Amino acid sequence: MKAVIVGGGIGGLATAIAFTRHGWDVEVLERSTRITEVGAGLSLWPNALRALDALGLGDEIRSRAREENSAGIRDSKGRWLSRTDVDAIRARYGSPILMHRHDLLDILRAAVPESAVRTGISATEARPDGAVAHSAGTSTGDVVVGADGIHSMVRRTVCGSVEPRYSGYTAWRVVVTPAEPIGDMGESWGRGERFGYGTLPDGRVYCFATANLPAGAEGGGLSELRARFGSWHEPIPMLLAAADDTALLEHDLYDLPPLKAFTAGRIALVGDAAHAMTPNLGQGACQALEDAVVLARVAAEGGDLTPYDTQRRPRTQMIVQRSRSIGAIGQLSSPLAVLARNAILRLTPPSAQFKSLAPILDWEV
Ligand SMILES: Cc1cc2nc3c(=O)[nH]c(=O)nc-3n(C[C@H](O)[C@H](O)[C@H](O)COP(=O)(O)OP(=O)(O)OC[C@H]3O[C@@H](n4cnc5c(N)ncnc54)[C@H](O)[C@@H]3O)c2cc1C
Repeated sequence: MKAVIVGGGIGGLATAIAFTRHGWDVEVLERSTRITEVGAGLSLWPNALRALDALGLGDEIRSRAREENSAGIRDSKGRWLSRTDVDAIRARYGSPILMHRHDLLDILRAAVPESAVRTGISATEARPDGAVAHSAGTSTGDVVVGADGIHSMVRRTVCGSVEPRYSGYTAWRVVVTPAEPIGDMGESWGRGERFGYGTLPDGRVYCFATANLPAGAEGGGLSELRARFGSWHEPIPMLLAAADDTALLEHDLYDLPPLKAFTAGRIALVGDAAHAMTPNLGQGACQALEDAVVLARVAAEGGDLTPYDTQRRPRTQMIVQRSRSIGAIGQLSSPLAVLARNAILRLTPPSAQFKSLAPILDWEV
């Protein structure tokens, strides 16, 4: 049996590993000439670590990651609005971790047979009979996986044309070497702007920030970030002082409206191709990892991929929606709304936040 996988990102490589573990042959078609990820951090929650354990990679991932020890939300002056009970999460579900994207991709890539990954190949059409037309000919599989990201070509065969939705805000990411070590991690929320940071295993700090901006607006790079966040509480100004303009990433944030199906005949969608989400819950890659494990198991159990759709669509679409709502709250900009939001956050006990995370973190293979 063979799976042809379009896309060699986190979702595609994880899916290739999952199929291989069920004894399938895999062929990964990646249009870039190199398997690579952007230079930024990535948080992985315990649900994703359970998926990685199922792929046989959990321990290796943990050894190249840093456990998250503290988290929460502050205002721009550094006053706590809400604190995440990381100890309770760890005790119940296991520790969330933060790692560099390159390290995750390296580990995934090394676990896929060398000859199975074909780079520099652009897929142009996926057919319901299991054929994929691409820039070097045609590949055929018993299953075709669309792991080709938010602008998925494979998705067109499954559910026609679907336009991603702009969230209303843009995101910057940068990894910096701080002048002093940063003990904690977390996010700070202002008016229509947020800034977050967390320490990577090598002591560098992954920073991310968002701001309400029209889609496609010209970002002003580091000078804009410093103008927006330079007067916020420490360590934000210190981190921005250490940042390098050439390493700064800026992306408008989009998600996908709910798709009517994740499968059609022999084709299935995983990761951002199926359920691209805003990063407010840090679950996009986590869900791609869950997809990989479930899809390979369903495919190995028989020819019908419908159980994959049944198991994955409601869960991932719930998370897309929640992430969208958290983003809308985090990006509120009117002074009155921000005042009310901050007051509610202060009054919400950590136990309520813990409870609300349960349906996301309690996933079992
Ligand atoms: C700012 C930001 C922060 C985030 N933070 C987190 C986080 O902390 N935790 C978390 O879990 N998630 C996070 N995410 C989400 C996460 O990055 C994505 O969900 C994840 O990378 C999706 O992986 P994927 O493999 O599905 O798609 P992609 O990474 O988009 O990979 C798709 C691959 O397919 C290839 N491709 C596309 N079209 C073709 C074609 N026609 N032929 C061949 N190849 C093709 C592309 O080149 C690419 O390599 C964040 C996202 C953003 C934007």
